[in-house]
Amino acid sequence: MSATYDLHSHTTHSDGTLLPGELVARAHANGVAALALTDHDATDGVREAAAAAAALGLRLIPGVEISATWQRETVHVLGLCIDVDDERLQHGLARLRDFRVRRAQEIGRRLGKKHIDDAYNHARAFARGAVISRTHFARFLVAQGYVATMGQAFKQYLGRGRFAHVPSEWASLEEVVGWIKGSGGVAALAHPARYRLTSSKLRRLLREFKDCGGAAMEVVCGAQAPGESAHLTQLARDTDLLASAGSDYHGPEKPWVDLGKLAPLPAEVEPVWSLFPAPYRAHALLQ
Ligand code: AMP
Ligand code: MN
Ligand code: MN
Ligand code: MN
Repeated sequence: MSATYDLHSHTTHSDGTLLPGELVARAHANGVAALALTDHDATDGVREAAAAAAALGLRLIPGVEISATWQRETVHVLGLCIDVDDERLQHGLARLRDFRVRRAQEIGRRLGKKHIDDAYNHARAFARGAVISRTHFARFLVAQGYVATMGQAFKQYLGRGRFAHVPSEWASLEEVVGWIKGSGGVAALAHPARYRLTSSKLRRLLREFKDCGGAAMEVVCGAQAPGESAHLTQLARDTDLLASAGSDYHGPEKPWVDLGKLAPLPAEVEPVWSLFPAPYRAHALLQ
């Protein structure tokens, strides 16, 4: 029997809706043997999740999903098996969270021009002191009836090219991968098919990511179109990257894939967990 890894998930410490303990309990109930908590630009939930996981005999992999800017596009890089006490990593994440606050103020200002009042403070209330995200604006827009769904909030206001979309200045790929590797972690490019890059540009991104020290890319992720995983398998083989698998679970609110409910990694790719230090490998648990 192969162990179930789920290497991408969120809690209330960024834009997820479950507390770390609730997330871990759900992962355990779904048969996950090793779960990476990868909140956006923050690691605050990791300790609590690790404590909950230890009590259940589940392996908690300390992780983070870091926002990067590559060729004016936002891309997300997962840091897996990181040391959350690493100073350079935490300094970098703090810088990104500062930018998030300034960006959120600007999003609020822009929504104000459309007579959506006080959106910044409302979004802050949804974030409850955690990392502020466009997701919190989307929840506010749905709750107040400005739009019917989260998807609509992005389509109408928050998505790229829309009125309240603020061009972002995240960290460079080199910086992000440097922080992750400097903290002893493994860098994996998240959801490569979601960036809507041309095929040649996506290949360039993957090559540059690898040149910076990136080790893996997600091949199996939540909400994949049919055939997407086969395409990503080919890309991982062509670019000599290892393969990661993660649901990107944000809570029951999103009708996406549930924790651990992922297709197995195709046999043609090498799993990213072959690089993990022994304590983070789930098969150790199954022997
Ligand atoms: P941010 O990192 O603040 O720019 O917000 C990005 C987050 O918004 C992603 O991590 C998703 O959780 C969420 N998101 C992006 N697009 C959509 C969408 N179309 N529908 C629902 N959530 C979305
Ligand atoms: Mn998110
Ligand atoms: Mn992401
Ligand atoms: Mn994510």
